[in-house]
Amino acid sequence: NLEVGIVGLPNVGKSTLFNAITKAGAEAANYPFCTIEPNVGVVDVPDERLQKLVDMYKSKRVIPAAVRFVDIAGLVKGAAQGEGLGNKFLAHIRQVDAIAQVVRCFADENITHVEGALDPLRDIEIINTELCLADLETVEKRMERTQKLVKSGDKKAQAELAILKRIQDALGNAEPARRVELEADEAAMIADLNLLTLKPVLFVANVSEEEVTCPEDNRYVQAVLQYAQQERAGVVAVSAKVEAEIAELPEADAKEFLAELGLNESGLDKLIRASHKLLGLMTFLTAGEQEVRAWTICRGTKAPQAGGKIHSDIERGFIRAEIVSFTDLMAAGSQAAAREKGLVRLEGKDYVMQDGDVTYFRFNV
Ligand code: GDP
Repeated sequence: NLEVGIVGLPNVGKSTLFNAITKAGAEAANYPFCTIEPNVGVVDVPDERLQKLVDMYKSKRVIPAAVRFVDIAGLVKGAAQGEGLGNKFLAHIRQVDAIAQVVRCFADENITHVEGALDPLRDIEIINTELCLADLETVEKRMERTQKLVKSGDKKAQAELAILKRIQDALGNAEPARRVELEADEAAMIADLNLLTLKPVLFVANVSEEEVTCPEDNRYVQAVLQYAQQERAGVVAVSAKVEAEIAELPEADAKEFLAELGLNESGLDKLIRASHKLLGLMTFLTAGEQEVRAWTICRGTKAPQAGGKIHSDIERGFIRAEIVSFTDLMAAGSQAAAREKGLVRLEGKDYVMQDGDVTYFRFNV
């Protein structure tokens, strides 16, 4: 499942948002094998197709895809030099797939801003600098090791050192590593460093309750949108306060509340969708009497690797996948009817999975 780290300066609304995430949280029962730490919130990926499949197959249970949000608190100016919670927390970010940075776009005199006046771009730069400094340390540590290997005549180390130098230069100028253009084989050489500034970024513009229906009118949000465009980052505008209120409500009331505000989805759902889009993820489905389940894969994933998400045996012993698109299945009315109409396809190992493929894998054990 997708894992997103939430960062941001103090007092921008991180905890408010994170509390909303944990309250709206997925049923822990669905995830019996993962221990959930206090700074982790797991939420279901909303998907209306699942209930329709449950109705069709009379399934006993449903397991939606999930996103893990990790609250990475304690990022302040100087964190990379060991101030505040220091460098320790940065280790937490290394494992996440993407970073969501909450930036304050709401004005409220009663809530002090650590850096004085409201200025989301300055806030973004502060966090960016900290992340660059942390990466710089990682890169320089690796360079020492690589240099030794170069001295001993290692050819591969020489190539690696060249890449590390390019990244070091960028980071030294407070430029994130993602701006350094790397070939696939070059990127592979440094992948194990898990550089923070290589991870995709999503800015979460936290606006006031009043602005939640038209956040584009907020000039700070405008500034963030412009900045994000040149960084190829995503942006979602939410009001953490509104999210916190929604999280307190039963589902039906929450829908009504959103409708009253003129919104068709919660900020949390927006955030989940944006994260999936940013990372080029999609969903395939499995359905049966036992359960209906959504699985997250990268665009371009082939059938055996998709099966591997379910069990490594499926990938190893892959024979074929029986696939019907969700739309075809619904139009046909049942799996049997879809089969009669020839809508259930037999796909081989080179088939590229499509979003909404309802899939049954055949494999040798
Ligand atoms: P953190 O330090 O980034 O975790 O920030 P908090 O979530 O603790 O929020 C700091 C303060 O800002 C709290 O008093 C929140 O109630 C307030 N706050 C958060 N989001 C909003 C918002 O959308 N509008 C307003 N007016 N206040 C907010």
